[in-house]
Amino acid sequence: MAGSSSSSTKVSLKLLIDVKSKKVLFAEASKEFVDFLFHILSLPVGTVIKLLRKNSMVGSLGNLYDSIENLSSTYMQPNQSKDVVLNPKIANYGAHVPLLSLNADDSMNRKFYRCASSHVYVADDPTALCPQCKYQMNTGLTYVAGESAAKEAAEGGGFVKGVVTYMVMDDLVVKPMSTISSITMLNKFNVKEVGGLEEKVVSLEMKEGLMLLKASLQCKNVLTSGFVEAFAMVIPAQLTSEAVNQLREGIDLLLGKWTALQMAIHNEWGGRDTRQKVQQLTVEIHQWLIRPSEALYIDELENLLDDFMLSLNTEIDDGSIEEIANELMIMHKECLEGKFALIEQLRQSIPTSNHHIQVVNGGVDDSDSTSSSGDESMEIADS
Ligand SMILES: [Zn+2]
Repeated sequence: MAGSSSSSTKVSLKLLIDVKSKKVLFAEASKEFVDFLFHILSLPVGTVIKLLRKNSMVGSLGNLYDSIENLSSTYMQPNQSKDVVLNPKIANYGAHVPLLSLNADDSMNRKFYRCASSHVYVADDPTALCPQCKYQMNTGLTYVAGESAAKEAAEGGGFVKGVVTYMVMDDLVVKPMSTISSITMLNKFNVKEVGGLEEKVVSLEMKEGLMLLKASLQCKNVLTSGFVEAFAMVIPAQLTSEAVNQLREGIDLLLGKWTALQMAIHNEWGGRDTRQKVQQLTVEIHQWLIRPSEALYIDELENLLDDFMLSLNTEIDDGSIEEIANELMIMHKECLEGKFALIEQLRQSIPTSNHHIQVVNGGVDDSDSTSSSGDESMEIADS
């Protein structure tokens, strides 16, 4: 992962996860990620709140921000604008951070002005008057980078050099990586079996960057909590037996709502025993979700569903696999917390079918549903 170029806006990161202790031990990161982290420190607090507000902030600064936003301008001093606090301008020209460019917005850049006679004064407000000629200082100035900045740009911009891989700890301690230090790290974390560790390469975009920014203000295990949220990654804890049962029911309910699957059952696209196959799938998903000692990744679940549907000769291309997988992950996460809102919601809802499915439909019309029994609702709306 070392020495990657800075041309892409996506930045990938290799996480080392201890599945037993349910933690991200550390991340192997390229220059771009470290630049992003360092860049956070140069952001004004007002900008941070503005970025995070939609994701709801912990603490009270969000309220402060709202108050200023809602306050009528008539209460403000004539020489102050609410914008100064709500949209602070950043004066950090030198370090160009390509990653996630939180300040890509040009309005965040501070501008400077002088008078038309080029006197030696500079202002950041084009209505200011030059102390010497008393004319308005409304001629915009252009920032020119010095030699050192040009040299820096040639080396990829940002804050740190790209020649090495960096090690970022869960609590955001950053240092250059070496093989010796990673062995020392494993000892420090008291990792006894390397088999209990998993490597996962994740990539970051704006959304994940914001999750990490948020986590960095709230806790000491930033990578663990930031990525768990960002990637629907669940590092299992113990499920209560009630949760295990609820989860089982939830899977049934959710699959019952999955139009494509219900059509496959109804039309026996996987053969006469399609229904049994689906029951087995339910068991498989349940076991996959409740396995105690491995981290769960949504992409694995998607593959499981995709493979199963293919085994029923059904190719799905409507995004419903991703939807179902996502709901299963949410359901599982809620079960870990002893909450069952999604399952309850499924219980209340009537099976609907507004999915657009691209399957080759063999016009099968079988006489009523044969394998009756149970309280399974098998409603398939014709489209
Ligand atoms: Zn002047």
